[in-house]
Amino acid sequence: MRFAHIYVEERAFGYPLTEKILSKIPDAHVIKIKHYKDVFDRKRQDAPLQKDNQALIIAVRDGSRIFKGAPVCQSFGNKNFYYASSMMNCPFDCEYCYLKGMYPSSNMVVFVNLEDYRNDVEEKLKDGPMYVCASYDTDLLAMNSLTGHADFWKDMALTHDNLLVELRTKAAVQVTGNIPNVIYAFTVSPEEVVERFERYTAPVSARISAAAKAIDAGAKVRLCFDPIIKIPDWKKAYEKLIGECAASIDLGRLTDVSVGTFRISSDYLNRMRRAYPDSETAWYPYVIKDGVAQYEPDTDKEMQEFVCGLLEKHIGREKIFTWN
Ligand code: SF4
Repeated sequence: MRFAHIYVEERAFGYPLTEKILSKIPDAHVIKIKHYKDVFDRKRQDAPLQKDNQALIIAVRDGSRIFKGAPVCQSFGNKNFYYASSMMNCPFDCEYCYLKGMYPSSNMVVFVNLEDYRNDVEEKLKDGPMYVCASYDTDLLAMNSLTGHADFWKDMALTHDNLLVELRTKAAVQVTGNIPNVIYAFTVSPEEVVERFERYTAPVSARISAAAKAIDAGAKVRLCFDPIIKIPDWKKAYEKLIGECAASIDLGRLTDVSVGTFRISSDYLNRMRRAYPDSETAWYPYVIKDGVAQYEPDTDKEMQEFVCGLLEKHIGREKIFTWN
């Protein structure tokens, strides 16, 4: 891992996961801190600069850890839809990522009190089955060799039948073993989008091949065409992408597919614009509707319908989920 500096909350030192992480990065400079917010929420941080030299913050999460799914996120027909925040920020650097408008810092925070997450989930499960997107504010699978958080969620699924876990990624991870209530969600984008806007992520061909292998291993796999980005010639680019997916994956064997055009809360967009004055995606003249910035309604509809239409040639409409 590339972290040169690791900030550790005083109280996090007592946790075995902290020791595990530190032992994996023996050369890092370790700095003891009182609270992660003292570093993460500092004013006047240069988030774009931090991204090239990310620090890691190891902390204990108090307060809310599991949240009700936001309206801009897809529930895939699940009633009790939550997302968990056991890490903040991501090793990848997608130009359009909403985290850029959500957090004042690009440094990564890893919470080590996973047992508290277990208790929170068990408490909520008393009200009935639950669907948890565990990898929303980060990419847990990409970070798993260091933090083990994806393994934690897999174990949670293994030991709780009424819990359905989604692990979403832009890494080309090798999936082993079939846990019926874990969905591996691979986000795929046209090569042009990956090259221009998805820094440090795995090439899309590698993600497609990882998804194909995961299906062969018996895992539940979701493909996410989300966000769809309006690049010049977007129709051709998405047609090519879906052709590449269909050439490597029997799309009928997917658990489902998610399709969503780019959208972001207008508050996050405003913060993103201030922090990234040169960002092409941030400065696109979006339309604001109900507090959500999105493409012009006609374009938005056309993009979503076009991608759904291409997918319908390979997979039943009932397996294609859209965000609006
Ligand atoms: S992989 Fe996802 S969470 Fe990570 S930077 Fe890209 S959009 Fe953001």
